[in-house]
Parts: sequence; C-alpha cells; structure tokens
Amino acid sequence: MSKIARKCRHLDAITEVKQNQVYECEECIKIGDSWVHLRTCQTCGTTLCCDSSPNQHASKHAQSSGHPVISSAEPEERWLWCYPDELIARY
Ligand SMILES: [Zn+2]
Ligand SMILES: [Zn+2]
Ligand SMILES: [Zn+2]
Repeated sequence: MSKIARKCRHLDAITEVKQNQVYECEECIKIGDSWVHLRTCQTCGTTLCCDSSPNQHASKHAQSSGHPVISSAEPEERWLWCYPDELIARY
C-alpha cells in the first residue's frame, strides 16, 4: 500500500485500509432502499451509503458511533475521509 498523507490523528492512526467483501449498504438492504456510492467505516468495517444517497447511512453511522474515518468502497477510488477534521487523504 502506498503511503497515506498524514494530516490528522485519526488518519494517522490508520495503518491498513479496511475493505468489505460485501458490496452493498447493509442498512439500505434491511429497508429495501437503494444507494448511490458506498463507504466503509475504518473503525468497524461496516459498509454504508454516501451523502449522495437518500439515506446517508455512512454519515449517520459516523455521528451516532463516533467512528471518525471512512474510505470510499468504490473500486476505482482510493481515499479516506475524516469527519471530525473534514480532511481527505488519498492513498
Ligand atoms: Zn481526523
Ligand atoms: Zn444506506
Ligand atoms: Zn463504524
């Protein structure tokens, strides 16, 4: 893995980017809804939908759980986002 830009303590704490084998929003699946893009929580590995999706499950998860960093779960995208610091890091 290439080096992650070191910008905050949350991103700094990530040594390996978590990826989920399951390519779907687990909360949308439960309610039968759809999503636009997928994000993976770097604390617990849960994959949830992005802010362009109707339910914005990834942001809601970050707020309710306090898990600070997500990665894009899209195969062609390689970046991390820190919610509390509003920082992006490409890797
Ligand atoms: Zn941070
Ligand atoms: Zn969702
Ligand atoms: Zn989480």
